[in-house]
Amino acid sequence: MNYGFFENTLKTMGQIFEILKLPAAKVERLSRPDKILDFKLMVPMDDGSSREFSAWRVQYNNVLGPYKGGIRFHADSSLDEVKALAALMTWKTSLMSLPYGGGKGAIKVDPRTLSQGELERLSRAYVQAIWQDIGSQKDVPAPDVNTNSQIMDWMVDEYAKLAGKKDLAVFTGKSLANGGAAGRDKATGWGGFVVLREFLKNRPDITEKTVAIQGFGNVGSHLAKFLFDAGFKIVAISDSQGALYEPKGIDINKILSVKDKAGIIDRDVCYSLDGQGKCQIFTNDDLLFLPVDILVPAALEDQINKENVSQIKAKVILEMANGPVTQEADTVLKEKKVDVLPDILANGGGVAGSYFEWQQNLANETWLETDYLKKLEEKMIESFEAVKSTKERLNIDWRLAASARAIERVADSLS
Ligand code: NAD
Repeated sequence: MNYGFFENTLKTMGQIFEILKLPAAKVERLSRPDKILDFKLMVPMDDGSSREFSAWRVQYNNVLGPYKGGIRFHADSSLDEVKALAALMTWKTSLMSLPYGGGKGAIKVDPRTLSQGELERLSRAYVQAIWQDIGSQKDVPAPDVNTNSQIMDWMVDEYAKLAGKKDLAVFTGKSLANGGAAGRDKATGWGGFVVLREFLKNRPDITEKTVAIQGFGNVGSHLAKFLFDAGFKIVAISDSQGALYEPKGIDINKILSVKDKAGIIDRDVCYSLDGQGKCQIFTNDDLLFLPVDILVPAALEDQINKENVSQIKAKVILEMANGPVTQEADTVLKEKKVDVLPDILANGGGVAGSYFEWQQNLANETWLETDYLKKLEEKMIESFEAVKSTKERLNIDWRLAASARAIERVADSLS
């Protein structure tokens, strides 16, 4: 599925290397990972058998600080994908001005096929394989697709056993009871909100601020609440079951107060803000094509693609999901003069939030959620301003500007 992902990532990076006119030696250094750990894990199963899993950790570049990046558990994971994601993490941490490099890890597994006990043994086996290569000043993993705070807690515990010392700062994304940060669940949505708010300061033509949000999970629902509370008019939301549309605006607080534990929106409580009528039920595609000011893909990759891009009517796209706009669609959006605020910037609040968890653990502190969100806001404003000035200096679009700013910081630090 991800065949050629690293090669494609290198092609995109090549464009930036040219814009920045980087010398060949720097291009060579930035076009390959520092280190690849490629290994197999043998894990005892509940039925007494043993099963082998392919696993990886790629440390891409650490010129700005310890490698940082998630560990995903997915049946389609591959070394190619992990290398590409590790490169992208290098640029994301750089863009957020964090003292981190980039890395990524994965185990090729569908975790739904494992019992809790098997999942725990697999998570611990992964740490047994890599523990000498990670550490709070070396490489700091985090959750990613299909991994969560429980898995990070097991990993912290396993690391402590192997290293002979408890070090909470080796992993981020832990549970609150085990050194996690208050506010982390809101961090990505809050970061996206701040980026959009700053962007709109230069767009006085966008007055009504109508919004459609695809995806109402962790990222989409928190962002929706921040936007709603700030007076944006959210006219459509969706989840995997379909979309809801109400041109007068949807009361997000009401939806959130009854959103069930499975994260599915309760269609029956969706009324217009004036309480006059029930929201219309739409398909997910219909949501993407609404004539809104701001469209927010916050669910999956490749949602806006060459097949449907001609029907997009939004003025601004805030990419909260990773890779929701394909390269072909991006070219068309550029021609249509749609501003695309790229994922590396828009959802960078997630990794910035992880950085604040790491800082708290290192200093043995516990911050209030309000302080955490305030620091995150400052980080997002700083990153937005840096991208804006790079965009103006190089006369390029938001996506290129974000990557250029990120790669330039890393390149400047290379000897
Ligand atoms: P999540 O699993 O909590 O939520 C995903 C949401 O998308 C759910 O509401 C689901 O029902 C919905 N969805 C699934 N298929 C859909 C479809 N076809 N149409 C509409 N909605 C659909 O995931 P999340 O943590 O909110 O992450 C969302 C995206 O943001 C992902 O691309 C993720 O990589 C990215 N991201 C997340 C974080 C983070 O901190 N959670 C950080 C950076 C990037």
